[in-house]
Amino acid sequence: MTTPTPATPTRHDRHGRYPQALTEADLRRHLDEVQARIAAACRRVGRDPAEVRLLPVSKTQPVERVRLAHAVGCRLLGENKVQEALGKWERTQDLAGLRWSVIGHLQTNKAKLVARFASEFQALDSLRVAEALDRRLQLEGRSLDVFVQVNTSGEASKYGLAPDEVPAFLRALPAFAALRVRGLMTLALLSSEAQRVRRCFVLLRELRDRLRQDAPAGIDLEALSMGMSGDFEIAIEEGATVVRVGQAIFGARALPDNHYWPAAGG
Ligand SMILES: *Cc1c(COP(=O)(O)O)cnc(C)c1O
Repeated sequence: MTTPTPATPTRHDRHGRYPQALTEADLRRHLDEVQARIAAACRRVGRDPAEVRLLPVSKTQPVERVRLAHAVGCRLLGENKVQEALGKWERTQDLAGLRWSVIGHLQTNKAKLVARFASEFQALDSLRVAEALDRRLQLEGRSLDVFVQVNTSGEASKYGLAPDEVPAFLRALPAFAALRVRGLMTLALLSSEAQRVRRCFVLLRELRDRLRQDAPAGIDLEALSMGMSGDFEIAIEEGATVVRVGQAIFGARALPDNHYWPAAGG
């Protein structure tokens, strides 16, 4: 018997209204709340919460908040824009063990920056960027964990490969030895209609399951990075192994989301 699909709603209605984390205590409380929601979502579908990694997203937050995050134990932070991430990396060299995950679209000419400071890149969606990253990583003697971004909502404005482009794309990736492919990433439809959001996550999981059967050697497709503040519980119910959560941890952002995603509105 299969588990019935839970009727979990999205929380996009809270967008822009999350309380700010101004102190270590605030931040700890928000992290605990998010972890509790992750655990509850796992329980609903019989998953082990240890399978789900919470990636706190610190974009738009000042360096002081990054320091707070490090103080309460965060060691990997997500940033959408390369320049902003690089600035924070430079200004936190004194914080032991802090690593950065770039989760936003990358232009080829910025690949060298990512190769310099990032530990993870979640928005790989072109061979030109793969090639540029690989070349710079080889020069730096580094490697990089990458996720292939898939456009599961069908919106023309969203970055990512169309699902039917992914198989050929994956076949080309073993040529880039400095890239360690970990899995797939997506941004779901930003909608309050939970069923439409859930469909994006189901599509990514089913795509991963199909591709995993004959993935090229060295291409690991275990990870599914999907879900953010407004929809991470639904993503977990559908198999997310990484959730990227900003506002529910750090507080509402001052900048509107169309600063990050061309058609997000707001
Ligand atoms: C900002 C961002 C997130 C986190 O969004 P929140 O609403 O702050 O949780 C997740 N993924 C990507 C790609 C982002 O740019």
